[in-house]
This record gives sequence, structure tokens and C-alpha cells, in this order.
Amino acid sequence: MSKFWNNRTRNISPYIPGEQPRDRKFIKLNTNENPYPPSPKVIEAIKNAANTDLRLYPDPESRLFRETAAKRYNVKPEQIFAGNGSDEILAFAFAAFFESNIKESVLFPDITYSFYPVYAELWDIPCRTIPLREDFSIDCTDYYIPNGGVIFPNPNAPTGISVPLADILPLAEYQMKQNKVLVIDEAYAAFGAEPAYSYTGKYPNLLTVHTMSKSASLAGLRFGFAVGSEELIEGLCRIRDSFNSYTIDRLASAGAAAAIDDSAYYDGINHKVIANRERAAAELRGLGFTVLPSAANFLFAKAPNISGADFFAALRERGILVRHFNKDRISDFIRISTGTDDEMDELIRNCREILS
Ligand code: PMP
Repeated sequence: MSKFWNNRTRNISPYIPGEQPRDRKFIKLNTNENPYPPSPKVIEAIKNAANTDLRLYPDPESRLFRETAAKRYNVKPEQIFAGNGSDEILAFAFAAFFESNIKESVLFPDITYSFYPVYAELWDIPCRTIPLREDFSIDCTDYYIPNGGVIFPNPNAPTGISVPLADILPLAEYQMKQNKVLVIDEAYAAFGAEPAYSYTGKYPNLLTVHTMSKSASLAGLRFGFAVGSEELIEGLCRIRDSFNSYTIDRLASAGAAAAIDDSAYYDGINHKVIANRERAAAELRGLGFTVLPSAANFLFAKAPNISGADFFAALRERGILVRHFNKDRISDFIRISTGTDDEMDELIRNCREILS
């Protein structure tokens, strides 16, 4: 605590990112990075952009990326927003669309991405959590109540469970009638959920938020984007331009545009991620784990007869890093990012030994 901090700085509980170890080599299955490298075309584009033009500011409107993404997603460039990681876009979305009005809380699940309550606190937005069903799935009908906006990831994190589009679209309709926004955070959608971005034309209040960190293997580049109606995208631009006009640097912009253009490569590696995930899920179930059905690039699993904290610690000691959340209802679970075939073999071998 410093006497120089204002009340906001004193009172906020910042998000705690997963560990990025420096002193020891781990099998790193804790922050949902892609185990496969980015497309060689991305590396080439970044190298080509590393030239003397770096003395110039980047394009504040990220036109190259937005035009490329617009073609791929079959929308207009004005319906794409680019940000420095999807976290930044989510923070802007809270600021742009959710009210600091005590009567209307923004709604999200009780178990979900733990950055949402931090953004709500940062921008002074009242929020209310809606419990997941017993089986940890989201029941969209629970959100049919007056609200200041709704946000959740599809698939949800850290459960990995997806929501069918057939449940999301009526919620978009309900929100539309109330003039309220629905944000679907599609960080992990490429690994098995039904994406909603193509309905942003029909629902001008629907914003889908995407990241290059997971399915495009570019967590180190910091790039995310959103798809939505022109009015929602303009709202995000108004917040960004009241904050930092140049959130995307020249290298990130070149790399992200090349990634969007190489879906053949990414479809290939992400099919492998899905296959590794399914194989690991089956083997963990064989060892007696409860494994939630995942449509993401991670598994949420509970070991038999040992607490989540103890299992996390035992794996860590053996050089395998996973994620544990010390939170009601899920403290006995661990979240395991999908690694390569060999990494998943090592994980299973160690799980078997710990339980024996
Ligand atoms: N949404 C969800 C649900 C996530 O788990 C993450 C990753 N921590 C993000 C958004 C943010 O991803 P990034 O900022 O790397 O794009």
C-alpha cells in the first residue's frame, strides 16, 4: 500500500495471470497457449515488417488487418476492431457498453473468465454472477432478466463447456429488445464451439471477441479482434482513441494479417490439438478423473480422492505446470492446457504415478 495510490488503485484486486516460469523447464500446460508453432508465413511477414518503417507510427486504424479479416469473416472492415490482445478489447467493451448504473448489473457466470469482475471493478460497473447449472454448463434462460449487459465466453473458461448457438441467438434477441449488448468471448471457439460472429449482421447488439493467442499460436504477439455492427465497433474506437491511438504495432499488425490468411495451416494444427485433447480426456477418465466435456484447448478435470491444490502441487513438483483456481465449486479441479502428443503422454504417466 502506498500513500500515493488513489482509492481506485488501493481497492482494485487485479487479475493474476498464469505463471510464466523462468528458472526451471516445465511441461507448460497452464496458460492455454498452442503447443504448435505459428505459421511460417506469419514469421516471414513479421521479419519483412522489421524494417526502417519502424520509425513511423503504425496505422491507427489497422486497415491491413481489418481488410484481411473482413474478407475471411465475410463482413465489412468497419465491422472489425483490432486490439492489443482480446483482454484489451474486453476492457474496452466494458467501458463502451456497460453502464455504471446501480439498477442495471452486467451479468456473467459465477464460474468464468476471472478478468470480467476486474474490468467491472475498474470501470465501476455493478455486476451480478449467475450460477452455472450443476453440470457446470451455462443456462442462457437464466439471463432473461433486466440487466446492464451480458458477457460470457463460448466455450466457457475454465470449464471448456460450450453453449449451442441455438441458445445464444434468442438471448441476443432478448438483449436487443432491451437495447442491451451481448458480448460472446470466442477466445477458444476454434476448438469446437459454434461461432456467433456471422450473426453480428442480424443482431447489431452482438459483439464477438476473438484472440490470436490460442488458435493462431501467437500469445507472444498480443493481438485480438472483435466482430460486430458498425455502431459497436465505433463505440470501441471511441474508447480506444480516448486512451491510446496506437495499440497495435507494425510487427503485430503484419503477423496477425498473415495468420488470418493461412487458415489451411491453422486448421491442421488445431485438429491435432483437438485430437490430443480427446485422447487425454479418455485416458484421464480411465484413471478415474471426472473430466468435463471440453470444446476448448484445455481440460477441466478432478482427480479421484485428492484435492485440486494437492494434485496441482504434485504435478508441479514433477515438472508439469497446470492451473488451479482456489474458488468455490471448482477448488478440486485443475485446468490442463492441451500439449503435444508427447507432453500429454508425460502428463498421463505422471497422473497415473501420483494416484498409485
Ligand atoms: N478470454 C478468455 C476466456 C481467456 O481465457 C483469455 C486468455 N487468458 C482471454 C480472453 C485473453 O486472451 P488474449 O488477451 O491473450 O487475447
